Amino acid sequence: MAPYLIVSDIHANMEALRAVLDDSRGRYEKILCLGDLVGYGADPNPAVEWARANLTAIVRGNHDKACCGNEPLEDYHPAARMSATWTREELTSENLEYLDKLARGPLRYDDFDLSHGSPADEDEYVLTVSDASPLREAVCAQTTFFGHTHLQGGFVLTRSGARRIPPEGIFELEPDHYYLVNPGAVGQPRDGDPRAAYAIYSPQQRTIEYRRVDYDIDQAASKIRAAGLPASLAARLYAGT
Ligand code: ZN
Repeated sequence: MAPYLIVSDIHANMEALRAVLDDSRGRYEKILCLGDLVGYGADPNPAVEWARANLTAIVRGNHDKACCGNEPLEDYHPAARMSATWTREELTSENLEYLDKLARGPLRYDDFDLSHGSPADEDEYVLTVSDASPLREAVCAQTTFFGHTHLQGGFVLTRSGARRIPPEGIFELEPDHYYLVNPGAVGQPRDGDPRAAYAIYSPQQRTIEYRRVDYDIDQAASKIRAAGLPASLAARLYAGT
């Protein structure tokens, strides 16, 4: 089976996406995405067009739904709501239609699952060990890739509970455990490290490699400001929050 480039939460940040593609070049055969192509960033059309041309599989994220009008915006904080409204107006009808038709997770691909949020509910965050522990009963595949939290890492699920996977270097998957694996966010990391995050999954070697890469934050941030999007969305890229 092919090695996979696993990306999530690109959020219309083409500078971060290009850095990930440069850094991972030659190391994978197929690209899988865990949702949130758009929202927050200033390049929604290029992000969706890249997805249409390059992805082997993708599940929808809450921001993808929000931009198509498939999700109420009342619970979004004001900057996220503004960016969803801006994105909806900016997207071409073909790109809106593509987002509108994205599959709900969890989506089976080969012998693993893709999910935006929790495998039990696509919109739920899996942030803590206590969020992850009950999911041992909910997961269908031995390995489920998820995003939504923008935090690289994930969890090993055992009968006695969950423990965190440290998002560092190469992690080996053991045959008798279940895994929730988060590649981190390409376009808006929130773990205090502003570098773009992604993962390479090698089913043959049973390894996940967690990677971080610097990108041109100045350019992504200035596009956000030039588009008239909230300045906080530019500032948080520098802080990785
Ligand atoms: Zn997101």
